[in-house]
Amino acid sequence: MVWQGIEGQDAVVERFIAAHAQGRVGGAYLFLGMPGIGKGSCARALAKALVCSAPQAGLIPCGACASCVQATAGSHPDIDVVEKPEDRSTLPLEAFIGDANHRMREGLCWRLLLRPALGGRKVAIILDADHLGEEAANCLLKTLEEPPDSAVIILVGTALERQLPTIRSRCQIVRFAPLGSDAVERIVRHAIEAGHWDLPPPSADLLRDSAERSGGSVSRARLLLDPALEEFRGRLLGWLCRRPLPGVELAVDTLALVDAAGKEAPPRRARLKIVLEAALDFFRAALRRDAGDATPPDALVARAVGAWGGTAEEAAVGLRHSLQAIESVDRNAHLPTLVDAWTTQLEQIVQPAPPAPRP
Ligand SMILES: [Zn+2]
Repeated sequence: MVWQGIEGQDAVVERFIAAHAQGRVGGAYLFLGMPGIGKGSCARALAKALVCSAPQAGLIPCGACASCVQATAGSHPDIDVVEKPEDRSTLPLEAFIGDANHRMREGLCWRLLLRPALGGRKVAIILDADHLGEEAANCLLKTLEEPPDSAVIILVGTALERQLPTIRSRCQIVRFAPLGSDAVERIVRHAIEAGHWDLPPPSADLLRDSAERSGGSVSRARLLLDPALEEFRGRLLGWLCRRPLPGVELAVDTLALVDAAGKEAPPRRARLKIVLEAALDFFRAALRRDAGDATPPDALVARAVGAWGGTAEEAAVGLRHSLQAIESVDRNAHLPTLVDAWTTQLEQIVQPAPPAPRP
């Protein structure tokens, strides 16, 4: 089912179609799921359908009314989207209640109190809800407790534990599942053909492979199509199967790759996560090899694991450190420090040989 260009999230879409048909669309939702699976797109599509003055069956916006025209142009006065600026670690307070000179005379919370300008409804979308600071959350809380009749507030985050308890208890939770690899492949192919991404057209094999390794995330598949990253993965697997692992070289190489993503934090973090996940694939495959289950993710990993002389215990330790490093990336850790710590830990996973028995 494809609903307004949203693919692979049938359960979520059907839930909203049913709620709308019964006149039971709620006032506050919390969309949760991994990045790159359509949560933000779904929130925007939903906003467009909810402000349409004559939606068709199946919650399809008519496409012709004044609301639809303005929503398509991204200038609808009753659709409010806030997101975290690249240079901030949290959603700014002023986005909710205006700056110091305009407290409660600007911002999302204030705008929600106004009557809808065009249709019968206002929709607020709060992207990056994982980064809602306590002060901003307290302001939003009042709005969530008594949402104006006409308002629908949609927060978009990744994991429940990253949301403040006060916020999550006031929202209906909507979980988004990872996409199937077929859906990822179709979405990626469409994005490349439509020129939305600055990527050379990949071969059919590469496209298929990136979709399969994407874990169901379109944004991850896009990164996997980056030739520089694939080349790095080959080098990384080379480092990983050396014992002891050359930590300093791996750290320098990894940081160079992260730096090549530019100064903005999200692409830098995304790149590092791809590296860490490639290491995770390696250690997982090494563990499986020792368990007699020989199904490595691809030929590159199979070759590296075959060349590795490490033990299952070492693979388990490497796996644990890599998982912890991924969690730290998600918590916005300082990346150079994190890379340093991770590579030092990997360097040390080689267990010393047991002392030779005394004669
Ligand atoms: Zn319409």
